[in-house]
Amino acid sequence: MTNYGIKEKILCIAAHPDDTEIMAASEICRAYTNEDIEFFACITTDGGNADVRNAEQREAAEIGKYTDLFLLGYSSNEIKGNSEQRIVNNYGDIIKDYINVINKIKPTTIITHNPFDTHATHKAVFNKVVEAIKSMPEELRPEMLFGGEVWGSIMNSEQRTVNSCGLEIIEKEITNTALYKKLLSCFPSQTKIIEEFSGKTVSNYLDMTEYML
Ligand SMILES: [Zn+2]
Repeated sequence: MTNYGIKEKILCIAAHPDDTEIMAASEICRAYTNEDIEFFACITTDGGNADVRNAEQREAAEIGKYTDLFLLGYSSNEIKGNSEQRIVNNYGDIIKDYINVINKIKPTTIITHNPFDTHATHKAVFNKVVEAIKSMPEELRPEMLFGGEVWGSIMNSEQRTVNSCGLEIIEKEITNTALYKKLLSCFPSQTKIIEEFSGKTVSNYLDMTEYML
């Protein structure tokens, strides 16, 4: 159902600083030039290097004109840990935090990771976002939930089988390439890691995302 007269509010719930700028780039670009669309980001972990990575994420939010940014600051283990760790690390708090953010924003659309992502933390975030949404009364849930892809195209691999699960695959266009490049240039710490890993010089983050494919 379309809420006529109500702003479109898009919330991206991501595992790490930088995931949002890759998997929700099309929506950041749409919101950037349209005052009827608000874009919010909620980042679950600090990427294990809070000072640097949160600062990088804040810069991207500033450049992309996000309406608000939520940095939850969990560790990856707290998100994907076994059941024992979940109890130790207040597993339920993550779900509660997601519900609080969703209640505060009342997004019309949520974008998060997709269940076919091969990264354990991404997958764990997807599961918890679904759990959070399912625990909310129906009238407070977002109209749409999208699973985004960080590693490349969901169409590139065995993940194609998603079609047989009845999920719809849509590729959304990034309409402002200059903005997209600017957003990705906010994460030099990640460029450095990929250089060490690949032994190649990476001139910008776009090169880096190509290495990931
Ligand atoms: Zn990630």
